[in-house]
Amino acid sequence: MRVLVVGANGQIGHQAVEKLKEKGHDPVAMVRKEEQVAQFKDKGIETVLGDLEKDFSHAFENVDAVVFAAGSGGSTGADKTIIIDQEGAIETVENAKEADVKHFVIVSSLGADAPKKAEQAKHYMYAKHRADQHLQASGLNYTIVRPGMLQNEAGTGKVKLFEGDPEVANVPREDVAAVLAHIVDKNQPANKIYNLIEGDTPIEETI
Ligand code: NAP
Repeated sequence: MRVLVVGANGQIGHQAVEKLKEKGHDPVAMVRKEEQVAQFKDKGIETVLGDLEKDFSHAFENVDAVVFAAGSGGSTGADKTIIIDQEGAIETVENAKEADVKHFVIVSSLGADAPKKAEQAKHYMYAKHRADQHLQASGLNYTIVRPGMLQNEAGTGKVKLFEGDPEVANVPREDVAAVLAHIVDKNQPANKIYNLIEGDTPIEETI
């Protein structure tokens, strides 16, 4: 499958691109700066330049699936959270609809189901919540993945991927990327919302 990865220069996005390639897919890494292209090009991975704050509809040509792993990061203000995590995600959904994309997988966050309950970064939880809601109402086939606190340690290849009430815990970014690639690979878009934390289930056996 040709899979557009939005946020491909990011820590999860980058690894998701590589894991999709390993599984035999054709990832298209969307990055926003020319200097971010070579790292993918050198590995034979297609790239497309696109900025969520501008028109990026050109990135969706012949795309079968989308992985949205972008985010404004913790060091920007609330305005960028709204512009990227919320509005950027919403525009990505709209572009995906226009392009007749078959499966949209989004990296959300644990807690995005209940932003009112957030004790910190309420605006962030609202942004993730609104983006998820928009995707759910879009008519696209979707999978929403809500990871716990992201860690940079190496992945274990095992996680807990589950529906329903969230449990607060950590999860390595590498395992999140592997789960995203697995979900795309399985291609069973059943409009699911999953929480994702560290656990004991081999990723290949999660769905
Ligand atoms: P990351 O490393 O900060 O990557 C985010 C990517 O988004 C970056 O590559 C960035 O591009 C890209 N981006 C930002 N603005 C953009 C724009 N205008 N146009 C195109 N791309 C843009 O994030 P991560 O650690 O991989 O996390 C991925 C997701 O997980 C985020 O949505 C985050 O909110 C979510 N999450 C985080 C936690 C946590 O514990 N931190 C928990 C759950 C979920 P540049 O590289 O060019 O800056």
